[in-house]
Amino acid sequence: MQDMNGKVVAVTGASSGIGEAIARRLAARGARVVLGARRTDRLERLAAEMTAAGGSAAFTSLDVTSREAMQAFVGFAGERFGRLDVLVNNAGLMPLSLIHDLKVAEWDRMIDVNLKGVLYGIAAALPVFSAQGSGHFVNISSVADRRIVSTAAVYSGTKYAVRAISDGLRQEVGPAIRVTLVAPGATESELANAISDPALRRAAIEDYRRDLLPADAIARAVAYAIGEPGDVDVNEIVVRPTAQVY
Ligand code: NDP
Repeated sequence: MQDMNGKVVAVTGASSGIGEAIARRLAARGARVVLGARRTDRLERLAAEMTAAGGSAAFTSLDVTSREAMQAFVGFAGERFGRLDVLVNNAGLMPLSLIHDLKVAEWDRMIDVNLKGVLYGIAAALPVFSAQGSGHFVNISSVADRRIVSTAAVYSGTKYAVRAISDGLRQEVGPAIRVTLVAPGATESELANAISDPALRRAAIEDYRRDLLPADAIARAVAYAIGEPGDVDVNEIVVRPTAQVY
């Protein structure tokens, strides 16, 4: 199904999990996809596979915690494909911990990647979208953007903020630019690897992450939002495994 009509879509955090699945699905549906992440060896393999399958893909190194790097990423999309239609702000990490344990460096990291990374993405792409008279932000948040559980307070804080910023952005940008928030529940990926406490990591993998969605379930939601006509703004999609209560 080639319904993306050559749209140029840049995906942050495309080297694994949900970002990789989004890139694969959109390329298979006719988008020209720009992949960004720090692990460029993985991006190179992914871009080669997508191209061999008849898709169109380019990749570049990206650290979303650098405003300059985000700007260069958006600029790279323009150089390679002449425009940018969609920015998927997907990069994120979830090092769960109790606040009491004071893993302050991990709090900083979540704020830098999950929150400031999204803001830098907006800062980089908004002028391009405004000049083009069209564009679409897809921000990947989490069910933690509306539900707080113990050990996820700071992670939730970053995702609540992404949800708030997404809706504020939607209200301000006017009719030419679309804003979609996609909030996944437990999904197959490498997300739990960042949990530094071994007991919490085991618990996250064995309990919370027992009934996992395939990452492509989130990619399908993203493809749906992008594939709607330009005057249809799909604002929020929450996708959980059917078995997930919270
Ligand atoms: P993964 O750990 O598999 O993927 C995270 C991606 O983010 C990787 O590609 C990683 O690439 C990238 N990333 C991390 N830090 C940076 C950085 N500084 N600059 C650029 N890229 C970075 O996890 P998921 O696929 O699950 O995570 C994707 C998003 O989905 C996150 O925002 C997460 O919060 C959200 N989410 C995931 C859920 C789940 O259950 N899986 C549930 C709810 C939300 P690299 O290391 O190569 O830079």
